[in-house]
Amino acid sequence: MLDVVVRGGTVVTPSTSERFDIGVKDGRIVAFAEENSLELRAARTIDASGKFVIPGGIDAHVHFNVALSPVMRAQSASAGGRAAAFGGTTTFIDFALQSGDSSLVRAIEDKQAELKGDRPDIDYALHAMITGKATLDVLDEIAVAISGGVSSFKMFTTFSGASASGSMYTDDGRIWGVMQQTARHGGIAMVHCEDDCIIEHCVHRLYREGRQQALNIREARPTLCEEAAVSRMLLLSRRTGSPLYIVHVSSTEGVEAIAEAQGRRVPVYGEALHNYLAFCDEDYARPNGMIYHNYPSLKSSKDRSALWEGLRAGVLDVASSDDFTIPFASKISGTQVDNALGGHNGIETRMGFLFSEGVRKGRISLNRFVDVSSTSVARLFGLYPRKGAIAIGSDADIVVLDPQRRQKAALADLHSDCDYSIWDGWEFEGIPTLTMLRGNILVENGQWTGAGGLGQFIPARSPAAP
Ligand SMILES: [Zn+2]
Repeated sequence: MLDVVVRGGTVVTPSTSERFDIGVKDGRIVAFAEENSLELRAARTIDASGKFVIPGGIDAHVHFNVALSPVMRAQSASAGGRAAAFGGTTTFIDFALQSGDSSLVRAIEDKQAELKGDRPDIDYALHAMITGKATLDVLDEIAVAISGGVSSFKMFTTFSGASASGSMYTDDGRIWGVMQQTARHGGIAMVHCEDDCIIEHCVHRLYREGRQQALNIREARPTLCEEAAVSRMLLLSRRTGSPLYIVHVSSTEGVEAIAEAQGRRVPVYGEALHNYLAFCDEDYARPNGMIYHNYPSLKSSKDRSALWEGLRAGVLDVASSDDFTIPFASKISGTQVDNALGGHNGIETRMGFLFSEGVRKGRISLNRFVDVSSTSVARLFGLYPRKGAIAIGSDADIVVLDPQRRQKAALADLHSDCDYSIWDGWEFEGIPTLTMLRGNILVENGQWTGAGGLGQFIPARSPAAP
């Protein structure tokens, strides 16, 4: 006898949408058959007729617990993980923060212990952030990190000095050194691409003109700063052969540079964030408009359309949230172009937003939605096919999505530990109604039905192209 059977739903993968029944036993998918073709007896049967059955969402970019500065302290993994489950996400990938000459492996072990102590409700994997003046000894630890299940390494081309986001900047020499290691040992480099020198110049100019108010932040961090940094990182990827993942691409020029490099077989992948797919620089002028801000700066509505087109066309491979939930008072406390606060509370709305604004509005296909929200994420970060797939042997991380169900996102109904939401008032058509983690039903019709704290660390293997 099986534990669970999901019947009559349309199972969606990146390439197919067909009616299948799914059998689950001991946390894994053990049966996968054409509708009603198998006698599947189970302790629990879920009727998914009229609904889509998709692999649980994987959010490739979240920051829990971390305090980059006194005002940048993020929500816990237990709060964020629960919010994720309500939104149809069953795995998140957080970051271990290494800085300067401190040990990379130690930073990873500390973060693993912290997350374990938080007892999140969903599974998780880890990237590492290498920040500041990493030493050669730190670079030597990359091979050890990869064999221990952390294969992705994030760096910043911005945030030098004492910014509100902390001192995160890593110079190109060190990034090149990291890429040599990731190329050799089967890892992937992730880079936040905004050129710090161009930003510094723009900030000086805005101060001289008396226009340093935060709502002008797009002029402080213009499209050119993204394009410049992306171009340099593409060169390093091309010369080292290291896979390169450009986090949160924000501009038309960023998308175009990635597309051009992909045409020349540079192993580069791009990430969209759903807040950049929803908002643009005009939102800075709204009351408390800095709540919409994240780094990089929001660009124009034309850039926003280019991001959707990049996702559709496969130039951008992944849609993440960059969940970094800080209190409202902190969020609006930076009033100048050089101290505005980033961070975005979005782990719960990501899946519903992508379906509603993406699939429903014809911007991406249903199959592409599954790809960018789950399957490609699992492939790029070495979790596939355990995660990101509805297939025999995969973890039974299954989400049932009702394409007809409408829901208005209201702050009081969202589950993150946060006192505001940029999604407050958004109406979604088509939302996840059931979330299953390794065969355990966590959420059903908006109610928590699962055990708490089931999340496990999932070691990542080497990246695979989507
Ligand atoms: Zn981030």
